[in-house]
Amino acid sequence: MKTFPSLLIFFFGILAVQAQNHSHTGAQPLDYPDIEGYKTLKTDLHQHSVFSDGNVWPTIRVQEALRENLDAISLTEHLEYQPHKEDIPHPDRNRSFELVKAMEEAAAHDLLIVHGSEITRSEPVGHSNAIFITDANPLLQDKPEDAFAAAKKQNAFVFWNHTAWHRQSPKGTPILSDFQKARIKNGELHGIEVINTVDYSAEALTLALEQNLTIMGTSDIHGLIDWDYTEKGNHRPITLVFAKEKSSESLREALFAGRTVAVYNDLLVGKEEFLKPLLKASIEIVTAEYIEDTQVLKVELTNISSSDLLFENQMEYTFYSKSPVFEIPAGATETLQIKTLEKKSSITVKLKALGCFTAPKVQPVVEWEVPVN
Ligand code: ZN
Repeated sequence: MKTFPSLLIFFFGILAVQAQNHSHTGAQPLDYPDIEGYKTLKTDLHQHSVFSDGNVWPTIRVQEALRENLDAISLTEHLEYQPHKEDIPHPDRNRSFELVKAMEEAAAHDLLIVHGSEITRSEPVGHSNAIFITDANPLLQDKPEDAFAAAKKQNAFVFWNHTAWHRQSPKGTPILSDFQKARIKNGELHGIEVINTVDYSAEALTLALEQNLTIMGTSDIHGLIDWDYTEKGNHRPITLVFAKEKSSESLREALFAGRTVAVYNDLLVGKEEFLKPLLKASIEIVTAEYIEDTQVLKVELTNISSSDLLFENQMEYTFYSKSPVFEIPAGATETLQIKTLEKKSSITVKLKALGCFTAPKVQPVVEWEVPVN
């Protein structure tokens, strides 16, 4: 009988601690390391609610974001498409933003809420998100060029959505139209989704690099993150943004400067100057020591990111008892046994990240300088 009350106390103790921490367990919180000089912000800047063609109340988006440990979200309702308007009449296109912005829970967890809207037209204009707007209503215009001009007036960051959507582009490849060329020239289009929902477009990455557009990845969620992604064993697609600090203004500055990596599970896409430091920071060297009486160097690597990372050995040395192609799952530690032939006091571990792209078909090679114990 003695253990029973103490067990009870133990359980209540746990409950009390959980209530205090107010943690959002049950989901899979996302984690990516900072890179030198910048904070890595986890963002999903393309989402919907019942205020356009989504199926949930806007506040659900905040709760989902907190469960996944995101730093910033935007609800980007279609300005021109409101299938629920008979039930939810909402002439003010700012309404879903205001509902979310007013949530104490968002403020308490320091979740940045970015004001956005989706400019929605058929081809060749297509769909684009304007974010960091101050008022969505002036973006509702007859002519799409007037909508983009109104967004520019508000200093919005504008990105081209699901460019490779087969319903708009039957070949599944993006077509850069004269309309978009004019928007880029006018400084009215600044980014492009290379990952939208589960679709990665290598052609969109080509456009991003050619046109110097910011590389974006978004969930474009209409239903529930849990149903569409988590329970299928996936994370939602996100954009990692390398900001000087965690604030809306820094986030905006970083997006205009193109400091991003788009992520969907084990696929990471970004400019080399940001993807390489991210990968470098994602792998921590735990130990490096020779197996006793051998010239085989044992190096333990831990992947501290939320993406499983697939690597290929690029060193002049071969491995003992491991394939030259190997995975380090998210959060896991793997051991390499490197045959250095003679004992070294330090080594450069050099690996190609096979699931990562700095350009179509181009995977970054990352180096870690490792002192030997
Ligand atoms: Zn959308």
